[in-house]
Amino acid sequence: MHTSSDRYHPQTAAIRCGHRRTGENEHNEPIFVTSSFVFDSCEQASERFSGDMEENVYSRFTNPTVCGFQNRLAALEGGRFCVATASGMAAINGTLQALLKAGDHVVASSGLFGATVSLFRQYFEKFGVSISFVNMTELEQWRLAMRPDTRLLFLETPCNPMCEMADIRSIADIAHGSGAMLAVDNAFFTPALQRPLELGADIVVHSATKYLDGQGRCVGGAAVTDDKDIHSSLFSMLRTTGPTMSPFNAWTFSKGLETLALRMKQHSVNALAVARWLQTHPAVKRVYYPGLQSHPQHDLARRTVTSFGGMLSFEVSGSKYEAWEVIDGTEFLSITANLGDAKTTITHPATTTHSRISQQERDRARITDSLIRVSVGLEHVEDIIGDLKRGLDRVRIWAG
Ligand SMILES: *Cc1c(COP(=O)(O)O)cnc(C)c1O
Repeated sequence: MHTSSDRYHPQTAAIRCGHRRTGENEHNEPIFVTSSFVFDSCEQASERFSGDMEENVYSRFTNPTVCGFQNRLAALEGGRFCVATASGMAAINGTLQALLKAGDHVVASSGLFGATVSLFRQYFEKFGVSISFVNMTELEQWRLAMRPDTRLLFLETPCNPMCEMADIRSIADIAHGSGAMLAVDNAFFTPALQRPLELGADIVVHSATKYLDGQGRCVGGAAVTDDKDIHSSLFSMLRTTGPTMSPFNAWTFSKGLETLALRMKQHSVNALAVARWLQTHPAVKRVYYPGLQSHPQHDLARRTVTSFGGMLSFEVSGSKYEAWEVIDGTEFLSITANLGDAKTTITHPATTTHSRISQQERDRARITDSLIRVSVGLEHVEDIIGDLKRGLDRVRIWAG
C-alpha cells in the first residue's frame, strides 16, 4: 500500500508508507534485485519508454525498493516528491546541476560540509556559477549578498561542527523575495526534528548515510521537494547522470526510517545530558549544543524544534595535543568522522574533516585546534559520559 502521509502521524508514515505489497503477500519490504523490468509486448514496451517512467523500465530510473524509500522519506519531510541518490554528495551535486546554469549566482552559508564547499569552489565556479558565502546566522548578510542573478540559497542547519542554527523561515523569505529558491541540508536534524519544507524551503537534501540509516552501514542520499517542476528537473538530471541508489541500500534506509523518530529522541536526550555534563568539567572551556542556554541560537532552536539532536562540540583547555589526548584517552568511543550512528563517534575537526580548508577559513569558522566534535550515540549515557571523563581527566591531571 502507498499510504498517504496526510492521513497519518510521521511515526506511522515512517513504518507504513512506501511499501506496495506484491502478489506474494510479504509482510516486510522485499528487495528488488533487478536491473531491468520486462514487458508483456512490444506495444507495452513502446508505451513505457515514451511515458514519464511511472512504470518500471530500468533501475537507473526507478526500482520498487528505491521508490519505497523515496515515498517514505517524502512523507516524513512533508513533500510530495523525492529522488534517492548514491550518496549525499550526489544529491547535492544533482540538485545544483539541475537548478543552476552558467551565469547564475548562489548564496551559501559558510559552515557547510567540506565536500559541499569543494563542490561549489572547484566545480561550479569552473562552469560559470558564482558563489557568495555568508555567516548563516546573520540575516543581514543574506540580504546584502542577494543579486539580480541569484538563483539559489543553500544552507545546512545545524551546521558542522559548531552546531549553529539558521532561521530557515526568514532566509526562505529572503530567497523568495528575489525570485530565488532555498535548499536546506537536513542531515543533522532529519525530518524527525525539523521539516524545512514547512518552514518555506523549496528543496531538502540528505546524506542518508547519517541518521536515516542510523547504524553506519550504507552510503546514500536524497533530494525532497513539494514542487513538481523542481522534482522533474531533479529526476531528469539525476536519472540521466546516473548516481542511483542501490536497492539494498534503499532497503536499509527504509528500515532505518522506521525507527528514526525514536532514535532521534534518544540521541537528543543523551546529547543534552552529555552537553550539560561537559560544561561542569574543569578541562572543558566551552560547549556548543543548541539545547544549552549558552548557545547563541538557543531561543530560535526552542521555537522551532522540540529536541536538539545528537551532535555537539566542545573546546578543551589547551591545544591540539590536549584535544588528541582526550580523544585517544577514551576507551570505546569510535575515532571516526562518520556521524549519526548508534555508536558514539569522536573527531578532531581541525586535523580531519576540516584539515583541507585554510587556517584562515578555520579561524573564521572558529574551528580551533582544541575543538572536539561528538556524535552522541545510543549507548547508556552514563557510559558515554564515563568514557569522555576518562579522556578529559588525563588533561586535567596534566593541567593541574
Ligand atoms: C556527510 C554529509 C554530507 C555528504 O554525504 P555523503 O553521504 O557522505 O555523500 C553532506 N552534508 C552533510 C551535512 C553531511 O554530514
